[in-house]
Amino acid sequence: LQKKLTGTDIPSAQYGGRHGVTMLPGGGIGPELMTYVREIFRYCGAPIDFEVIDIDPSTEGNDDLEYAITSIKRNGVALKGNIETKSQSLTEVSRNVAIRNELDLYVNVVHCKSYPGIPARHQNIDIVLIRQNTDGEYAMLEHESVKGVVESMKVVTVENAERVARYAFEYARQNNRKKVTTIHKANIMKLSDGLFLEVANRVHKDYPELEHNNMIIDNTCMQAVSNPHQFDVMNMTNLYGTIVSNVICGLIGGAGLISGRNYGDHYAIFEPGTRNTGTAIAGKNIANPVAMISASIDMLNHLGHKEHAKVIQDATYQTIVEDAIRTPDLGGNHSSTDVVENILKILSAKRVNW
Ligand code: ATP
Repeated sequence: LQKKLTGTDIPSAQYGGRHGVTMLPGGGIGPELMTYVREIFRYCGAPIDFEVIDIDPSTEGNDDLEYAITSIKRNGVALKGNIETKSQSLTEVSRNVAIRNELDLYVNVVHCKSYPGIPARHQNIDIVLIRQNTDGEYAMLEHESVKGVVESMKVVTVENAERVARYAFEYARQNNRKKVTTIHKANIMKLSDGLFLEVANRVHKDYPELEHNNMIIDNTCMQAVSNPHQFDVMNMTNLYGTIVSNVICGLIGGAGLISGRNYGDHYAIFEPGTRNTGTAIAGKNIANPVAMISASIDMLNHLGHKEHAKVIQDATYQTIVEDAIRTPDLGGNHSSTDVVENILKILSAKRVNW
């Protein structure tokens, strides 16, 4: 195994330089988005063999979940749509959270970078959101202690706070970023968020060339909307991370545009950044395919298939920025398949150069 600087193991290629990747289409628009990715990969000969696993949240038991986890452990990498959590029952856990916890995918990275010309509240945003992905408010430790009283545990550990802070500072250093902002509510949650902040301050001492500041989550949401350009890299607990990711993705184009990456020491999962199911728009040929295509590009880069990643990335960029083939969420009037066909057309024109 080759080691990446971020610390995640990169699986070795199999015979012929190919990689096996687990594909979890999930619910809502997931399956149609995966069809587009497979079409694009087939078209440009990306050396990936997908192992497709459908997880049905309405089935009893966890057999499908265990099968998915075994497959990801074998392949090391997955491309994933969002799996719906239908029931409010305390015994049914979110399969999305269960997968991340079981594989110890402790960090989530969402790079929110504006596309020029896409209608948005702010232009030229370039923020990297780094989120603790396995504990905090998502510890799934909730119970009704007596009728009418529910308790929910928020867990912060030195180990996980340090892993995510170190990831954030290391990312900033390696990518020539200048500042890390730690997001918290330590004025109220003095012990839990206090520990998260204390650990970030300690880790910062190893990165003296970087600026480190901290900001309270409520002010962060206001600042993100009014003056997002002040942010560079953000270091956040789990729940604050999902809120801020959705705010900033919303500012630059919504749920269909930006991808997200989940890393642990051994495995990586790539998915759309805001993790929406998109049930209401499924089957209508209007879902924006770009976030899932970008997730597939991240996955190709992770596995070292840089050339395939680059041609797909360039074709996607050209489609939405230069050719302005955009789905309704981006103010366009094109269908999902119009976007994908335009990408295939560009790939086809480039084919001679491969
Ligand atoms: P659910 O019932 O699972 O919550 P939903 O469609 O009602 O599904 P979300 O999945 O939470 O809602 O999505 C939030 C919003 O983002 C919805 O308006 C959805 O249509 C939109 N959205 C999500 N993904 C995309 C996409 N790829 N392209 C366009 N819009 C999207």
